[in-house]
Amino acid sequence: MLAVPTTCPFCACGCGFYLLVENGQPVGVAPSETHPVSHGRLCARAWHAHQAVLWGERLRHPLIRRNGNLEPASWTSALNHLTHRLKDLIDSGKPVGMLGSARATNEENYLAGKLARAGLRPNNIDFSYRAVCRSLIQGIEDVTGAFIPSITLQEVESSETILLIEGDLAETHPQAASSIMRALEQGARLVTIGCRRTQMVRLSSLHLEAVPGDEGYVINGLLAALIRPERGDRRVATADTEEYASLIHNLETSEVTEELRRAAEWIARAEWAVPMPGLRDQCRGTAAAVATLAAITRHLHRPGSGILPLLARSNARGACEMGIAPDRLPGYEPLACGPTQDRLQNLWDRSLPASGGTDVETLLESVSGLIVLADDPPSILPGARRATAALQKIEFLAVLDVFATPTTEMAEVALPIASFAETEGTLG
Ligand code: SF4
Repeated sequence: MLAVPTTCPFCACGCGFYLLVENGQPVGVAPSETHPVSHGRLCARAWHAHQAVLWGERLRHPLIRRNGNLEPASWTSALNHLTHRLKDLIDSGKPVGMLGSARATNEENYLAGKLARAGLRPNNIDFSYRAVCRSLIQGIEDVTGAFIPSITLQEVESSETILLIEGDLAETHPQAASSIMRALEQGARLVTIGCRRTQMVRLSSLHLEAVPGDEGYVINGLLAALIRPERGDRRVATADTEEYASLIHNLETSEVTEELRRAAEWIARAEWAVPMPGLRDQCRGTAAAVATLAAITRHLHRPGSGILPLLARSNARGACEMGIAPDRLPGYEPLACGPTQDRLQNLWDRSLPASGGTDVETLLESVSGLIVLADDPPSILPGARRATAALQKIEFLAVLDVFATPTTEMAEVALPIASFAETEGTLG
């Protein structure tokens, strides 16, 4: 029996295990004792990962739609059909685009980006889950200038104070929940913000109630408790800038309760504190407030302190890093970054389009041709009906996926690809 090391594909915690393979078939899972994230611990989902390749209806052959039905075809005829249809659209000046995926590896996403920019030649490239996590990413970038987690799950375990925003981690990110529980065993304080009585809330030292979507209001209360001038706390970073003056001004009306004061005190005093934006990731203001809180309490760039945004999809960050966004190049460099543009043009031996593309929702409604790599907009985007209606109107739709999905059902060409258990690659 072979034991092949791999990374769990089910959430962004990135646990490691061995897939046990017999006669070319995955038959079981064994935890990796030395893996830096999971240390031999796995949640229930991962123990069944070997069965994941069988969970849905696998695409097994290239398919071409003929007389309304998807029919098996050879690789040569499917690829010829795909290239002729796309070339006709491009030659007639019609817009085309590409979707990458938060499920695909970094290497697959990089190639998708290269195909879009150097081959199809627009910057119409995105992935559906980015529409869900875009606000979280932008909110953190607004304050820190980058979207890079400043701590690891391992470091969470030695934190003194953890601030968790609206997350049922035991269900969605079990390894992160387990890291928090280890920190609690060593005396850490957990402050939760949200509206649901989750398992993490029951373990918290202090719970701050927030109505859904209004977590930012509570975080502003924490900020107000920290930076009001009368407090004069030297542990809080202050700056003689317009932004800082405007922050103080904006927080003047924020209500500061005794609970907020206590939580603010814990965060400010802790040597290692971790604000973890949770799963309500549509709110840019909340994410920016969390980042401001981390910056102002000097926890942003201190080893063992920082922000750990928990995304739901295993490789959303990797897809961003590979430039699967209409305004970003590989390395998450802005589209207008001259040196990166030059480097890519030399590497790919093509001039690259200069003007920005559109976000996934607009992209679906504006292109005439689309290639979709392991993405399924109707299952991911907030408006499933709108996504389906947009996909149905696209003149030529090609889908590359492991399983049949609502998107493959609308495709003119569907191509089977390898599952996580059958391919090599890295995750971001
Ligand atoms: S916590 Fe996430 S990455 Fe870890 S084993 Fe469970 S599903 Fe996989």
